[in-house]
Amino acid sequence: MRLSHRITHLTGGGSDGWGVFYRARKMIENGVPVTELTIGEHDIRTHPSILEAMHRAAMEGHTGYAMVPGTDSLRDTVAARVQARTGVPTSRDNVLVTPGGQAGLFAAHHAACDEGDAALFIDPYYATYPGTIRGVGARPVAVPARPENGFQPDAAEIDRAAAAHGAVSLLINSPNNPTGVVYARETFESIASVCRARGMWLISDEVYDTQVWEGSHLSPRALPGMVERTLVVGSMSKSHAMTGSRCGWIVGPEEAIAHLVNLATHTTYGVPGYIQDAAVFALNAGGRLEEEVAAPFRRRRRLAQEILSRQNAARLIPSQGAMYLMLDIRATGLSGEAFAIELLERHRIAVMPGESFGRAAAGHVRVAMTIADEVFAEALGRICEFAASLAAARTGA
Ligand code: PMP
Repeated sequence: MRLSHRITHLTGGGSDGWGVFYRARKMIENGVPVTELTIGEHDIRTHPSILEAMHRAAMEGHTGYAMVPGTDSLRDTVAARVQARTGVPTSRDNVLVTPGGQAGLFAAHHAACDEGDAALFIDPYYATYPGTIRGVGARPVAVPARPENGFQPDAAEIDRAAAAHGAVSLLINSPNNPTGVVYARETFESIASVCRARGMWLISDEVYDTQVWEGSHLSPRALPGMVERTLVVGSMSKSHAMTGSRCGWIVGPEEAIAHLVNLATHTTYGVPGYIQDAAVFALNAGGRLEEEVAAPFRRRRRLAQEILSRQNAARLIPSQGAMYLMLDIRATGLSGEAFAIELLERHRIAVMPGESFGRAAAGHVRVAMTIADEVFAEALGRICEFAASLAAARTGA
């Protein structure tokens, strides 16, 4: 039977850049010990107190259909949290609860884009972005954030792409996966001004907003003239180690949320009530729990800074947030992909090639800080030695 073009072309075809990841998985299956620095998931599990809240809610009968837009209590809790953090008046009518941030990204593009519309996103990017945009029938257009600008997006380039393609939306992500960069206030302000001038939606993926190591998180919804054109995507996945619970949200203008509730009715039909109750418990548990989840990454980032500062063959992109480090390995003369393959074959360490996240990250590799400190530090030391030996061979030193 013929399948739709939309579904068969969702991923865009060609190499998806996950070859190293699958090769590492195969080696592990075959009993080869591999240090995996590829996975964007905590090495801790959901806190038992959250699981107890989930269990309690289920035992109390919250196992039927939940309200499609989200329970009043979770929508109110998210609204209050967003308002406290941004100063922007926010009520439950500005909130749609979604099965994770990913469903939020999909829904947000549904709200912003019609069939065939151009939707901008920043490269390097989280792997699902172009497919998510294609999934709503829109056309993904990558705008590079360049290493020479510290991977901060450039508003002039965004503006040129918006004009050239007549784009209707721009998707951004700070703190950023894969670069670990947090956008500067000036970056947000200049992006916001392009969105206002071009009449574009800004879709702001803020799923790493509790993992900021330097500076502070800024939500562009708080900038002048942005509340009516910004759709913020949030999630419990990263902040509370609840990746498997599939609980996230979109915060946006009431009218957009009202239409998005219709989309939810015709797609997901909401998020389980006991999961939402657990999310309310977790969000009300306060900053201590969030800091407990973020602490291992904060610690490992410091370890990495120390280890990487002793050499210059693998250069650390200033790491300001999220659970990843981006290393510039161009001094070795290899592409990110070739470096990652060699590192896996010779040293049994798996990292993600920068090229997996777009062209702008060529010659880089992404290191996830998601393994125990000692193993992490040891692997980083070996990556540095390997990069140094390649760089030395290249220069004949
Ligand atoms: N955005 C980014 C940048 C991510 O890295 C991820 C998950 N890795 C997501 C969104 C989706 O997260 P979830 O659906 O688990 O909330």
